[in-house]
Amino acid sequence: MSEVSETYEVLALEYGRMDRSSRDFYLFSPDPHEAPRTIAYYLWVIRNKNRTVVVDLGFDKRSGGDRGRVMLREPMEALGSIGVKPEDVDTVIITHMHYDHAGHTPQFPNATFVLQEKEVEWCTGKYMGYPPLRKSFDVEHVTDMIRANFQSRVKFVDGNKDILPGISVHLIGGHSGGLQVVRVETENGPLVIASDAAHFYDTLTEQNPFTVIQNLAEMVAGWDRIFELGAETKYVVPGHDPLVSELYPKHPDDDMTFVLSQPPNKETPWEVWKGEV
Ligand SMILES: [Zn+2]
Repeated sequence: MSEVSETYEVLALEYGRMDRSSRDFYLFSPDPHEAPRTIAYYLWVIRNKNRTVVVDLGFDKRSGGDRGRVMLREPMEALGSIGVKPEDVDTVIITHMHYDHAGHTPQFPNATFVLQEKEVEWCTGKYMGYPPLRKSFDVEHVTDMIRANFQSRVKFVDGNKDILPGISVHLIGGHSGGLQVVRVETENGPLVIASDAAHFYDTLTEQNPFTVIQNLAEMVAGWDRIFELGAETKYVVPGHDPLVSELYPKHPDDDMTFVLSQPPNKETPWEVWKGEV
């Protein structure tokens, strides 16, 4: 492996949470999944003394409200609570263009947005003509991203790419046409922000895929990929699990920000999991 040139603090900022029927979140619905389960909404910040990178931008009041989502606070307010000013950010990685990951791009006038080419093709192409396939996308977010591209502020990636020293993105697909995950070097070794390659810890421990699917085979194979990127299991972090808020230490400046680059307070479900179903 090449020498680690820079390491980062990695933070998960929670901004929303809601309880819904488990049937909404698991493709296969055996009895234990009839109970409600909580989904948490996060965006992520990667930073060191040289730079701050934001990963995903959450939903906004309108796109969340359209879907009955509860916002605990504005994602921009969450960033402010740990001292991040959107206008100072020059790199935003968008894991995928779903409404709960791609809002607020106009608030980042100086940023370049890093996206997989396949994701852009997916959310602007013919399949968006089909209501079941577009329901997780917001046309205003997609339009805002096209606008950013017309200002030469979209960096298109095809597959795996080093974005900045110690930060790379990796194409997974599955949940959306070009879903990518982010690998970051920290003082405790590499960390993987899995985003929606794994919504919950038990998506994997129960081998039960999330219900929004572009390609089921890619989605399931992606569960191996997130562990193949070289991070210890405790530093592979799912995209929507409220357990993240219990497992990782709180940031001193903000109760709803969790420090993923520090060791978790206790064993995570994936550390305990031996791969059996
Ligand atoms: Zn999501």
